[in-house]
Amino acid sequence: MTFSNERPLLRAALVATGTEIALGRTVDTNSAFLAELLGGWGVRPARHLTVADDLGDLVSAVRECWDNFDLTVMTGGLGPTEDDWTRLAAAVAFGSPLVFSPKLAEEIRGRMAAWGFACPANNMRQAWTPGCARIIRNDRGTAPAFAVVRDGKAAVFLPGVPREAEHLARTRLKGIVEEMLPGGLRSISTFVVRAVGLGEGKVDELLRDILRGSRNPYVGLSAGLYETKILVTAMDAGPREAEELAAPVIEEIESRLGPNLAGYGEGGIRAAVAEMLAERRLRLGVIDSITGGVLAKSLLERLPPECLAGAVTCAPGLLHGLNAQNYLSSEGADLVVSLSSKSSPSRGEDGGSAGKITVVTHIRDSRSKPGAGWGSGKRRKGEDFFQITPLSGPPPLLRDRVSALACFQLWGFLKNMG
Ligand code: ATP
Repeated sequence: MTFSNERPLLRAALVATGTEIALGRTVDTNSAFLAELLGGWGVRPARHLTVADDLGDLVSAVRECWDNFDLTVMTGGLGPTEDDWTRLAAAVAFGSPLVFSPKLAEEIRGRMAAWGFACPANNMRQAWTPGCARIIRNDRGTAPAFAVVRDGKAAVFLPGVPREAEHLARTRLKGIVEEMLPGGLRSISTFVVRAVGLGEGKVDELLRDILRGSRNPYVGLSAGLYETKILVTAMDAGPREAEELAAPVIEEIESRLGPNLAGYGEGGIRAAVAEMLAERRLRLGVIDSITGGVLAKSLLERLPPECLAGAVTCAPGLLHGLNAQNYLSSEGADLVVSLSSKSSPSRGEDGGSAGKITVVTHIRDSRSKPGAGWGSGKRRKGEDFFQITPLSGPPPLLRDRVSALACFQLWGFLKNMG
């Protein structure tokens, strides 16, 4: 695949092997690690594959990946046991018989001796590699790795143990990728534009032509709660080139999102709220009388400390809203999110003593209210709080939802402040 501005893009397949992984009992962290590493070098990970310990399936996977990708990185199955098929699978796939290396055998024996173990005969299996392969010495374990590099392509076989795979990837895989990219390593850079208050479908509609036609930069969506991230990914470019590639596309996206643009970068709606609080030099307080602090924590945990005045939490029914607001006011809160199950925030006998504090968010039980939905906030005229989306609860599973909702309401509130 060639993009407009540059040399061909290397596409990689990552193959995790092992029945434990195929069965879901071990999570494949190697491929995630490798994908990120390769992306940083300008290689595009295009396929992830998991194959159980079965010789036939492994041979097909090696062949298929070799035929369809520039780079294949397979991890696992290089151990000394019966079900470690990777060496043989590579030999069959490349039609290159296994060759015994006395030097490797010596190194394996030496390493085992250094660890104080006699070397079982089984371990000698690891001294066999396909004749067409380069041996990659493993200075973190006994399983030697190997690579087949030819015709502008490479297949690299690394041990499964993450510590060993990661070390060899950083040190030895890098050299192989460099060989394949004569102009040197470049990278994949992703720029994130945040849209708040529009569902994923609406964002897709607004950006349809940009999304469909995008190559480099590639534009994709990632939907979250009350937010959609637009990911603009420039591939195989140095940092300045990446910015140049992405800038016109981001500008167009900004103009289409209009008021729903909520800043840039990871962190989503919480980051958007944090940035707005910081810009306006406002400090936030939270009152949580529903969950004794669980909800407050999920709302606050990703806001920076300088935006936080504090949180008042207690068991349901024990909180006197006005006291809590007074306390937060004395702690310097300019804005309070009240996560309370009462029907309205307590304003107390003496009304205005909560002073400048604005109660933004109030959450209450919706089960008695058929038709009540998320995000259906309404502002009571003349009152300094929002009566927002009702919520049952909140059971723990809805915690993230509630805190995202509170952030969404805060975002709208701050935006209206100008
Ligand atoms: P060894 O010689 O140490 O056995 P190996 O190359 O044969 O190395 P495997 O036997 O396939 O590797 O895996 C060893 C261990 O490494 C597994 O039990 C598992 O815990 C871990 N492992 C293997 N592959 C992965 C992977 N893709 N992601 C995370 N962990 C993995």
